Amino acid sequence: MIFNEEFETLPREVLESLQLKRLQQVVQRVYHTVGFYRRTYDEAGVKPEDIKSLADLRRLPFTTKQDLRDNYPFGLFAVPMSNVVRLHASSGTTGRATVVGYTKRDVDTWSELMARCFAAAGLNKNDIIHNAYGYGLFTGGLGAHYGAERLGASVIPMSGGNTKRQIQILQDFGPTAICCTPSYALTLAEAGEEMGIDMSSLKLRVGILGAEPWSETMRQEIENKLNMMALNIYGLSEVMGPGVSMECTEGRHGMHVFEDHFIVETINPDTGEVLPPGETGELVFTTITKEAFPLVRYRTRDISRIITEPCRCGRTYVRMERVSGRSDDMLIIRGVNVFPSQIESVLMAIEGLEPHYQLIVDRVGTLDTLEIRVEVSENIFSDEIKGLQGIERRIKKDVKDYLGVTAGVKLCEPKTLQRFEGKAQRVIDKRTI
Ligand code: ADP
Ligand code: ZN
Repeated sequence: MIFNEEFETLPREVLESLQLKRLQQVVQRVYHTVGFYRRTYDEAGVKPEDIKSLADLRRLPFTTKQDLRDNYPFGLFAVPMSNVVRLHASSGTTGRATVVGYTKRDVDTWSELMARCFAAAGLNKNDIIHNAYGYGLFTGGLGAHYGAERLGASVIPMSGGNTKRQIQILQDFGPTAICCTPSYALTLAEAGEEMGIDMSSLKLRVGILGAEPWSETMRQEIENKLNMMALNIYGLSEVMGPGVSMECTEGRHGMHVFEDHFIVETINPDTGEVLPPGETGELVFTTITKEAFPLVRYRTRDISRIITEPCRCGRTYVRMERVSGRSDDMLIIRGVNVFPSQIESVLMAIEGLEPHYQLIVDRVGTLDTLEIRVEVSENIFSDEIKGLQGIERRIKKDVKDYLGVTAGVKLCEPKTLQRFEGKAQRVIDKRTI
């Protein structure tokens, strides 16, 4: 189902002229209300009037996470505090948290975009949505909550943690959809099994999963264990929160970017050069309707690719490929670039391994080392040592063949690696530079 038929299916030319109009407005507004933008635009020698076409966007300087930190906490707000009705902060995965604000209209827009996401997942007012994203400063919980209410669905405001209770509620209330991180979906599946519950017989039809990178094989694992469709949702607090883009049930490949509210570009992360659609690079977003905290050309550090082919669902928005990782997540092991999600894909393709792994990066002398710790399944673990050695060899070989990296491997007993309630932290980097 399409929540906002009119806007989600606008012909491209109409959509693009709407984008241009909104872009011109936002650039005018930030130039006149936010000191940071006025300074950087003056330095770059561009004026808001120079934006005559969408292509002119690239004349404007980027905004980075560092700029947000330098203006901590409210320096980039474009409205007086009396118009701000909500504050959130990023989870601070990579350093000091960044603060974002919303006007009443911003909360309204966000709610609609999340409602669009739920509708894209096939949900409507008859559904019960179990929301296990964390409530609080993190945008996940409240973002999904308001969207579910906007759709008219019944929302269970579970928040994260307290896994046993979550499972109880999943059984008793019979939600048809769940929102959480993909790693938490697995944690729930596993904890349920341990409690002797058949997790495939719950009423869940669909999972709206995001907030961290995950692989296609992980999707299958979740779908099998919880007997539901697992869809990918993307967002970041700086740009809005969850609901910047979302997969649809029809396409199930790539997330539709809500382009009537955001302009997306991909750039070469090293040179800043704008890449043609289809090429893999860093995502850059411009918000074109936000009031309290507009962001122009924000470098997300998330690596993805834009898909322009039309989708069979009828939405005219471009899609973005699942995020393979953050550019600052990328591991450089003896000069080879590798993302944790690539290692995950290799591991998941090997029989007998569980979707729980950890990557330990260290430096011995001048050499980087990578150790992959991964859990093996119960029946394999009790198997003879020869079988285990075979798996270990296979992992080393596949990682070398597919990714070009030499790794040490440590097979772990089932259920011994850390489990996560929110975003998984799979990399332990012990290198000190
Ligand atoms: P923080 O940067 O502190 O983690 P957020 O909680 O706003 O702040 O997280 C946003 C980030 O989460 C995104 O920039 C991206 O790296 C990651 N993310 C969100 N959704 C997805 C997704 N579906 N796939 C991959 N990564 C995602
Ligand atoms: Zn679609």
